[in-house]
Amino acid sequence: MGILTKLFNRNKNQKRKPSKKACYFCKRQTNDMRTYKNEYNQTIKVCPLCVEYAERRAYIKP
Ligand SMILES: [Zn+2]
Repeated sequence: MGILTKLFNRNKNQKRKPSKKACYFCKRQTNDMRTYKNEYNQTIKVCPLCVEYAERRAYIKP
């Protein structure tokens, strides 16, 4: 067990963000979500309808 394994497991168990696959903007839930990062460097899910908005806000695609 290395420290990396420990870190990995800790991250896996950490469920802080409300990550039900709901769109960050409209809270709709679809299967076709894209992942972006917002200005706080948080990972967010964006549905196809709001992708344009995310692009305009210059959110980052990882
Ligand atoms: Zn949306």
